[in-house]
Amino acid sequence: MRRSWVPVADGSHFPVQNLPYGVFSPAGGRPRVGVAIGEQVLDLAGVTGDEVFDRPSLNSFMARGPGAWAEVRGRLVELLTDEAHRAAVEPHLVPRAEVELHLPFEVADYVDFYASEQHASNVGRIFRPDGEPLTPNWKHLPVGYHGRAGTVVVSGTPVVRPEGQRRGASDPTPIFGPSVRLDIEAEVGVVVGVPSALGQPVPTSAFAEHAFGLVLVNDWSARDIQAWEYVPLGPFLGKSFATSISPWVVPLAALQHARVSPPRQAPEPLEYLRCTEDWGLDLAIEIEWNGTTVSRPPFRDMYWTAAQQLAHMTVNGASLRTGDLFASGTVSGPTRSERGSFLELTWNGSEPVRLGDGSERAFLEDGDTVRISATAPGEDGVRIGFGEVVGTILPSRSAT
Ligand code: CA
Repeated sequence: MRRSWVPVADGSHFPVQNLPYGVFSPAGGRPRVGVAIGEQVLDLAGVTGDEVFDRPSLNSFMARGPGAWAEVRGRLVELLTDEAHRAAVEPHLVPRAEVELHLPFEVADYVDFYASEQHASNVGRIFRPDGEPLTPNWKHLPVGYHGRAGTVVVSGTPVVRPEGQRRGASDPTPIFGPSVRLDIEAEVGVVVGVPSALGQPVPTSAFAEHAFGLVLVNDWSARDIQAWEYVPLGPFLGKSFATSISPWVVPLAALQHARVSPPRQAPEPLEYLRCTEDWGLDLAIEIEWNGTTVSRPPFRDMYWTAAQQLAHMTVNGASLRTGDLFASGTVSGPTRSERGSFLELTWNGSEPVRLGDGSERAFLEDGDTVRISATAPGEDGVRIGFGEVVGTILPSRSAT
């Protein structure tokens, strides 16, 4: 088993088998690209001399493509495992505790899918109790919508409670005010590195030629605003106020040992959505609400894979840009303790959860903090991790 000469504690998310990319600034320094190793960040511009890393985003490096990604990764593994390089590399390590982490890439377009059968069924039962849980299209195409790229924020950014219109079942007319049903959605997002040409669909088989890596996503959702506005064009202001992502992008290469067969699809999807390679991923997600673990959603059960989502979002000729982010949709498993949103976990507030301090919650209160993390099987039998995506709710503007 490969080990780095950099100390890596047991259970660390960042052994040498991971090497996720991020953008950091050391005290007083400007933002630049680094990789996480144990409790350190390796300054890539410094250690490689490549100016592509002396930038405040990963976009230029991601655009270089899989050949360049593999070359850099191979070189970094060599530098971090062979003692012969230690003296030259060590000066470029910075303690993670001393750096500021930034949004790791400039988000081009943001798309959010809806790929968990359990989540889609639960939401259907809650929002449309008199209808079929799944809409007629759901098993034929990966349902998605275009989100707001400009409000994707890095983990740690506070989330101000949004205000907007809502209309409850007993309200004769809509009212305006702070959301009273503020929620999370635990998701996994794919970051696109290599763009595609307008008019040229990207087949499922080309997924790894375009996808650079994965991040954790918290798609903050105001359920009351969403429920009133979403018919007939889908999510809008109930979602667009903030979407948080983890600061470290786990490269696809680090996730090869996490690949599993996705659930069998019936009916068989149309030709352009069929896959010759398995892109199910065995990621174990954990959700903490004010420090209490409330759910452990299993990503391996997701019905639609990222390769299918990529093929679907380009099948009409829409092109990809470097920095595109597409998220999986809320990850929910079959049991209560595997649900990836509080809407489902508390069944629209009717079954509150009890937190470690004895308090009960249905939806988010001001001051609440949500932390989502995930791990996956990595090379050499080790577990690798995504770090975390964290956010704390601040009171709405009118309340301050
Ligand atoms: Ca979502």
